[in-house]
Amino acid sequence: MSPTPRPARPVRHPLLRGLQCLRCDALYPLALAHEGCPACRAQGVHVSLRASYRTAAETAGAPVPLLPYSEGFTLGEGRTPLRPMPGLAQRLGIARLAIKDESRNPTGSHKDRMSAMGVAQALDFGAHTLLLASSGNAALSAAHYAQMAGLACEVATYDDMPAAYVRALDAAGARRFSFADNAGRWGFVRERAREPGFFALTNHSLPALGSAPLAIEGYKPIALECLEQGGLPDHVIVPTARGDLAWGVYAGFRELLAAGHITRLPRLWAIEPFGRLARVLEGGALHADYPGLTDQFSTAGATVTFLQWQAVTASGGGAVVVSDDEARAARRLLAQSDVSAELCAAAGLAALRQLRERGAVAPESHTVLMLTADASRDPSWPDPV
Ligand SMILES: [Zn+2]
Repeated sequence: MSPTPRPARPVRHPLLRGLQCLRCDALYPLALAHEGCPACRAQGVHVSLRASYRTAAETAGAPVPLLPYSEGFTLGEGRTPLRPMPGLAQRLGIARLAIKDESRNPTGSHKDRMSAMGVAQALDFGAHTLLLASSGNAALSAAHYAQMAGLACEVATYDDMPAAYVRALDAAGARRFSFADNAGRWGFVRERAREPGFFALTNHSLPALGSAPLAIEGYKPIALECLEQGGLPDHVIVPTARGDLAWGVYAGFRELLAAGHITRLPRLWAIEPFGRLARVLEGGALHADYPGLTDQFSTAGATVTFLQWQAVTASGGGAVVVSDDEARAARRLLAQSDVSAELCAAAGLAALRQLRERGAVAPESHTVLMLTADASRDPSWPDPV
């Protein structure tokens, strides 16, 4: 087999100026690795950084949303369909419901948007290896994108990684390192990322920060796509582990608002399998451990990030806890409408029912559910009979 030709070096967006704290706005130089904002950490708050662009006056007239690379790396991710679901909307008593079908991305999940941006950053900084801690869709996506870009990929997984993912990672030529828990996985990635040429794409900090800031920017176009494909939603419902996707969607809408393309932000709702962010919003400590067991494989984990807290509080949304049984019932309902969903994405429909019942979603409203991936690789599928 001939080696994959190395793609052209990506072109950084001329308006990209550095990394900026999500909480205190301190500005830092662009870098391949970061440990969050040192100023906030000194105050006991672990906060990630985001891509920072030049001032509003300097960016006036630029396309929205701004992305870190004007010429990046792509395998055709994005521009996923927005599927109107009039039958389900009627059943839930709302005017409009649509599903943003991220399963239609090249490797079958929203993670491809992050992988494309992560590969661009790796190529830009001359890195040779993508590193990540994942036992699921992020691993598969990054391994495929790395392979296509001529980069190596090392993945820290759980010991009990589902066989379908093991086979897919091996086929993509990724190296697997197996660990019993998150602390082990993140420790491995943290140590490895100190070596030259290695780029950590996903979270490796405890307390958790979130994934690489430039890579998360890859989620921002979802906001523009929703607007163009179906108009401005009132609510966006997002399956959430550490909140990369929720924050990216929030940041996309925030840029549209700042540029005058919309007049308000949709309310973002983070869906979780057991109380984590929900408990923080009720007064729990941001950096506490919130363990729980779930079959919602893609949104498991015990940590809460400042990133996700900001996405829901700044947009006027919140967190909704959906049990596995509720998610399974919602998945059966989606299947009747010819929608295949991984369990945590089906949970979004159950969350919408909860939000209707508590009056947070009004009958005249327009809601978008993020369908992060279909059921085909989900270890909880098919349902036990
Ligand atoms: Zn800060």
